Amino acid sequence: MVEQGRIIKVSGPLVVAEGMRNANLFDVVRVSHHRLIGEIIEMHGDEASIQVYEETAGLGPGEPVETTGFPLSVELGPGLIGNIYDGIQRPLEKIRVMVGSNITRGIEIEALDRNKKWYFKPVLKKGDKVKAGDIVGVVQETVIVEHRIMVPLGVDGTIEEIREGEFTIEDYVAKVRKDNGQIVDIKMMQKWPVRKGRPYREKLPPERPLITGQRVIDTLFPLAKGGVAAVPGPFGSGKTVVQHQLAKWTDADIVVYIGCGERGNEMTDVLMEFPKLKDPKTGESLMQRTVLIANTSDMPVAAREASIYTGITIAEYFRDMGYSVALMADSTSRWAEALREMSGRLEEMPGEEGYPAYLGSRLAQFYERAGRVICLGSDDREGTITAIGAVSPPGGDLSEPVTQATLRIVKVFWGLDSSLAYRRHFPAINWLRSYSLYVDRLSEWMNKNVARNWSQLRADVMKLLQEEAELDEIVRLVGIDALSPQDRLTLEAARSIREDYLHQNAFHEIDTYTSLNKQYKMLSLIMDFYYKGKKAIEAGADIKDLFNIPVRERIGRVKYVPEDEIDNVYIELEKKLDEQINASIKKEVEANA
Ligand code: ADP
Repeated sequence: MVEQGRIIKVSGPLVVAEGMRNANLFDVVRVSHHRLIGEIIEMHGDEASIQVYEETAGLGPGEPVETTGFPLSVELGPGLIGNIYDGIQRPLEKIRVMVGSNITRGIEIEALDRNKKWYFKPVLKKGDKVKAGDIVGVVQETVIVEHRIMVPLGVDGTIEEIREGEFTIEDYVAKVRKDNGQIVDIKMMQKWPVRKGRPYREKLPPERPLITGQRVIDTLFPLAKGGVAAVPGPFGSGKTVVQHQLAKWTDADIVVYIGCGERGNEMTDVLMEFPKLKDPKTGESLMQRTVLIANTSDMPVAAREASIYTGITIAEYFRDMGYSVALMADSTSRWAEALREMSGRLEEMPGEEGYPAYLGSRLAQFYERAGRVICLGSDDREGTITAIGAVSPPGGDLSEPVTQATLRIVKVFWGLDSSLAYRRHFPAINWLRSYSLYVDRLSEWMNKNVARNWSQLRADVMKLLQEEAELDEIVRLVGIDALSPQDRLTLEAARSIREDYLHQNAFHEIDTYTSLNKQYKMLSLIMDFYYKGKKAIEAGADIKDLFNIPVRERIGRVKYVPEDEIDNVYIELEKKLDEQINASIKKEVEANA
């Protein structure tokens, strides 16, 4: 018989109950006769403060509260991929089938299908020694994802039996004899408490880029696999398109997308769009490697908190298999607002703008669960979680607490800019305000794997763009004619960088994705015009002739050249560039002779 407490106070999503002596902090509880799902977030003596993840309207003092004795946990196993869950991992589609589109309260529903059979293929055999994290076998979960079944934590011993065939996630697929003689069943499903980071053997610094095919990101503000980034999204700045592009094109094995939008339609956009997106590598639906966590608009704000933890725990689980996972949280500001609301109701001492004093540490704890690790198990496999958090600063004011706290943690900042979007410069990532602290670390990889002079080229591009900003000021004051030919070349080259390179049309079949090789070649052509142009001006060439050499028009259209033609086009255009620049010098020299 479960010990029951009684509600003494209800304040929005916060319920206080007495008589909870036997419950623990972070236990999941069922609240009232509706059996609403909640989590204990504070204990004082036998009084528990409970964050309730469902609408609490109509609840009153005296109603029962019952602890489950377990912390908020997620189910991990085959069946995750392709699913759309709410913040406490209830499958939305199943709920819809059960009760229609409005979530009725207190629904208990399993996250993973108990009846579905999966084909389990062992990779180990009887007599093999195993320890926690070792992969015992695999399940082809979707056409894209091979789900690796791992020995759960605390199990260490010898395989006594392992079987191939179709099983449900609750059937055993192997039996392990521990050193003390005890036999443990290995099943395809594990549970894990969401507030506890899943263990790994060792954390390593990120050293490879997460390749996105988006030129402004990969070239100027690269994100490392296992790194953390933030992107603010003023309305209409192209945030949704950026997120879709990342989900589509990043070279991650798994995508976990957490939507804690406020406006109901914000979330439906993603829900409707995602299943329509295609994975470019396989042509399959992107959902074949994606898990979506969606806070529907009829769930109270408190559920946003749970969704963040649910999402990162699922990401960790796939990381543990040795995959690279891209996790996107949209938006962490909405989560912070939920923290603020709960904190207010708990009557805690408020910090800046009413956010709790622990806002920064909560955000940090979340982002810290990203990273590059050596997984548990004996095969030294590596897994990564790359976290990209969207922030939505009210009025685009980056000095507000959530953005500031986030910027102290993340290492990459893509400053989406509504004024660029207004000028139709997409992706509207501001090249003067954005940054990546991974540049130095990744340069090594780029120089080795893309081109020896990659980091030099990138540094020159950044310098050029900064010089442009300074020169623009001068032009505004005294006009373009006051500039030297060299400065005018700088402006012209910077314009070319912006328009021919940074502009990238997400909706153009070829332009939507650019490989690193193509990025390098595009950039080289534009910068060679600049480097060689400088020399030509020194040698007396006229800038008008120089700016008008015919090959430049083709350089401007290299973005539309298919990947398999880029190498040849590059050689051809470099040759033309040389010839035409030399011709412009020669023309001037002859005219003066
Ligand atoms: P937000 O989510 O920030 O409100 P969206 O991502 O919906 O904004 O973008 C608004 C519009 O901007 C899109 O409908 C599209 O027309 C345009 N846009 C954004 N990014 C790009 C891009 N990379 N290429 C082309 N058009 C873009």
